[in-house]
Amino acid sequence: MSIRLRLTLWYSFVLAALLIVLDVSIYSILSNSLRANVDTQLNDIAGKILGASEVRSFADILQVAFPEDLDIFRSSDVGILVIDLDHNVVRRSSNVSTVNQSFDPDGLTVSTPPIYTTHDVLFAGAHLRVLTLPILVRNRQVGYLQVGGLLQGVDESLRQLSSILLIAGVFGVLAAALVGAFLARQALRPIDQITQTALSIARAGDLDKRIPTLGPPDEVGRLTETFNLMLDRLAGLFRAQQRFTADISHELRTPLTTIRGNVDLLKRFGGADPASLEAIRGETDRMIRLVGDLLLLAQADGGLPMRQEPVDLEQLAGEVVRQLQVIAGGVNVSLQTGPGEPVSVVGDPDRLRQLVLNLVDNAIKYTPPGGEAKVRVQCEGDRARLDVSDTGPGISPEHLKPGPGGVPLIFERFYRVEKSRSRAAGTANGSGRPGSGTGLGLSIAHWIVLAHSGQIDVQSELGKGTTFTVWLPLYPSLVQPVKLTPQNTGK
Ligand code: ADP
Repeated sequence: MSIRLRLTLWYSFVLAALLIVLDVSIYSILSNSLRANVDTQLNDIAGKILGASEVRSFADILQVAFPEDLDIFRSSDVGILVIDLDHNVVRRSSNVSTVNQSFDPDGLTVSTPPIYTTHDVLFAGAHLRVLTLPILVRNRQVGYLQVGGLLQGVDESLRQLSSILLIAGVFGVLAAALVGAFLARQALRPIDQITQTALSIARAGDLDKRIPTLGPPDEVGRLTETFNLMLDRLAGLFRAQQRFTADISHELRTPLTTIRGNVDLLKRFGGADPASLEAIRGETDRMIRLVGDLLLLAQADGGLPMRQEPVDLEQLAGEVVRQLQVIAGGVNVSLQTGPGEPVSVVGDPDRLRQLVLNLVDNAIKYTPPGGEAKVRVQCEGDRARLDVSDTGPGISPEHLKPGPGGVPLIFERFYRVEKSRSRAAGTANGSGRPGSGTGLGLSIAHWIVLAHSGQIDVQSELGKGTTFTVWLPLYPSLVQPVKLTPQNTGK
């Protein structure tokens, strides 16, 4: 059953229940009030009759003399009976001259006024309201007076009222159901549109479709907005996925083509040409590196757990610098550390090493021989700060703009400024010729920093050099608030 039908049915059901309660109340209030009017009229007549009666006594015998003509007290639709204690009718008004029994036998139990009864009875096919009063003479009951009024007028009025209430109720509920169905349809129309859009996206795979947001920002409006936002996000992820797959295929095709060309050469000319073998080895290394980086990023996406150990960042940076100095190919690589306590952070030593290695490797790779690459480690407030700067060609601002992922473009996967820029010098990660980078080094560095609750930033000036700065939370026990006094600020 659709929501629209359910809403309409509930709406109509509640309205019908309310109308029934209201109709029953109106009917009973009016019925009681009409009967009360009849009762007053009957009481009036009975009072007048008893008032006009005389009591006669003969020795011990008491007699009540009723007026000769009872008809003068009554209206046309009222009948009067005087009944003795044996329940025999002894006097009657002319309009009930043939009546030989009481209108209301049940009423003949009353004994003392003001106790009287009023009952609705069906007498000889007529609907009557009957008032029964005991007739008392000197506190002795001698009979009953019954005054019966026709309820025809009352019944007619109540019948008309119930027909009006019934017809009005049925039409009211029908009209309410129609209006309710219309309103429910209007309110649910955007949901229908959402369903249609979702269906057409599912059928055609077109993630660029959006639901028009025309209505007010109510619940359905917000649902539409949320749905559109979700589509934006899905479309973004889908495009990133497509780009990523295309990039991987492209990155893998180049070394595979090179390998195949060299294998063909070896096959054609025979022998083991050292240059071809070296090229095959270089490309194989590059593919191994690429696949390793991809695996790492895939694991990162899947939530690779990080070890949590205290790591001496100065010591780690020193080791990386020493390792890379050997293959720096004419670039002067140096390490600067701040005075005092060692700079320790909490994290995964292997990942942190990879972070420093990627940054320093890039600094060496993109700096021409004779240039400089500097690594600086220091404390800054409650964070450790690592700067890797070089005197290389710099990166132009357009590559530092935020990309689709909200981070500078060079941190995006496979993003490279210009493939011919990397130097021919061999470096730690094995890139030994122009265009040998994979474009994944900085995105891995970015992920490692985020996974350690840190921050990474890049400052660059074309022709002057680049500085990557990383902030990481300090190992808690080593965080000591430094008070700046004239003594320790050196003044
Ligand atoms: P790659 O494997 O190509 O070095 P990265 O992700 O490490 O990939 O770097 C992305 C791009 O950022 C590089 O292709 C390069 O153009 C630029 N880049 C990175 N570090 C530097 C640097 N120190 N100086 C100049 N450009 C750099």
